[in-house]
Amino acid sequence: MSDNFDVIVIGGGPGGYPAAIRAAQNGLTVACIDGWRNRDGSPAFGGTCLNAGCIPSKALLESSELLHRAQHEFAAHGLRVEGIAMDIAKMQQRKANIVRQSTQGILALFKAAGVTPLQGRGRLLAGRQVEFTDHAGQMRRLQARQVVLASGSEPMALPGVPFDGDRIVDSWGALEFQEVPPRLCVIGAGVIGLELGSVWRRLGAETVVLEALEQLLPMADGQVAKEAARHFKRLGLDIRLGARVTAAVVGEKEVTIRYTDAKGEHSVVVDRVVVAIGRRPFTAGLLGEDTGVQLDARGFIEVDEHCRTTAAEVWAVGDCVRGPMLAHKAREEGVAVADRIAGRYAEVNYRAIPGVIYTAPEIAWVGQNEEQLRAAGRAIKTGSFPFAASGRARAMEAPAGFCKIIADAGSDEILGVHVIGPMAGELIAEAVLAMEYSASSEDLQRTIHAHPTLAEAMHEAALAVDKRAIDALNR
Ligand code: FAD
Ligand code: NAD
Repeated sequence: MSDNFDVIVIGGGPGGYPAAIRAAQNGLTVACIDGWRNRDGSPAFGGTCLNAGCIPSKALLESSELLHRAQHEFAAHGLRVEGIAMDIAKMQQRKANIVRQSTQGILALFKAAGVTPLQGRGRLLAGRQVEFTDHAGQMRRLQARQVVLASGSEPMALPGVPFDGDRIVDSWGALEFQEVPPRLCVIGAGVIGLELGSVWRRLGAETVVLEALEQLLPMADGQVAKEAARHFKRLGLDIRLGARVTAAVVGEKEVTIRYTDAKGEHSVVVDRVVVAIGRRPFTAGLLGEDTGVQLDARGFIEVDEHCRTTAAEVWAVGDCVRGPMLAHKAREEGVAVADRIAGRYAEVNYRAIPGVIYTAPEIAWVGQNEEQLRAAGRAIKTGSFPFAASGRARAMEAPAGFCKIIADAGSDEILGVHVIGPMAGELIAEAVLAMEYSASSEDLQRTIHAHPTLAEAMHEAALAVDKRAIDALNR
């Protein structure tokens, strides 16, 4: 095998593997180096997303949601379920199978595209040389014309609450519990805290979520955050805001978490603790001497708007660079870089990156929220439509939440769309497309939506922007 490639991608997550495939589609010779190893030591492409993030978390969210619905919704359908039982081992096995299918799929895609997969560690050296060390410790020097760094991120640790891989775990550990912890403490009410807190709460864990900020979901629209808080409370997630964790005392059978809030000092005694206070860029061992690649003050690889690093012909994408830590953002950057390398035009629209939180109800948004727009002094108009007024949502026994559209008061251009409700993560795609094409609320108003669908809520919310909704009161 040649040691010279047009492109070497370091990192095989949702930033790296699509970059490698697109570069190969563009007729370039490509190698993708990935160092991921599973708990049993086996290597796997796919990075955090496929192995320990998006995919396994969604598998468990689905299983636990089905249990919750069987327990709490089926009766309303006239379905009596007796003696429903949980088999966590089976649930975890299903999740593991889905992960394996997905990660092995990448190898098949590489083969079809002609990408050389290299499993082991990659280290960028000066002059776009790459030192590759396989999992057996064998080292090789490779040469690339262009290098794409896609090394991802890792969980942040909380001083005083050290991970021990057993009682105090990160999100990966929380996806691997083999039994439901009777009492669980999640530190951080961010996306991971709410998703994984929901999983284990639905499966029966008494769940306390400690959040340092006084506000829940500050990045979401205020009305959405308020509605979400009601649903989390109804689920039984005990979210305590303004809670600053000071220490963890690990006993033989339990962990005591000490925290302070405005009212003083408190403690909570639990069986397991999940620390989910954010992630930081992972670049350990990635850069040799004199590569010219610079990191910023927070440890992210410095890039410009086209993902060019400070070194010529070296690019970086995904969680290791600025911007939201989302798989689809990483993917778009990876693909765009592979096209730019081949001399093709490519653009990532950072103003239209959707965010989805896969709780029940789901939460999804794109663009700016009402608070941000008002703070910026922008003249806006808004329209909302409740799922309670949607025939399809009622038929699904899922009438919670609403769809909200914010448009510029003058031009009518859509500036933000915020959904909390059934399948919000699917519904938001229409809003992303609308914003990608600078659509106005009138454009959505004039678009025919099939009946009866949840998507009609988007249509009605657009009509409500001009107080012309048909199926709801126009306030
Ligand atoms: P990663 O996926 O982290 O991949 C980087 C890869 O590079 C890894 O395999 C790593 O081992 C490898 N690597 C690093 N350094 C080297 C080196 N020197 N040599 C060789 N290999 C190296 N995002 C969403 O959009 N939707 C979700 O629903 C979602 N759910 C999530 C749930 C959880 C529990 C977590 C933790 C994250 C979730 N995310 C989600 C975030 C998402 O996983 C990340 O944004 C995404 O994986 C980033 O992709 P990446 O390619 O930049 O990095
Ligand atoms: P996050 O930034 O979403 O949330 C972390 C939360 O922890 C914040 O609310 C923060 O205020 C709080 N916090 C920080 N320090 C704390 C402390 N000492 N005590 C208590 N609370 C504290 O981070 P995350 O939930 O860990 O997720 C990491 C990344 O993974 C995010 O960037 C997210 O976008 C991504 N992710 C995305 C999805 C999705 O798209 N559905 C799902 C999971 C993870």
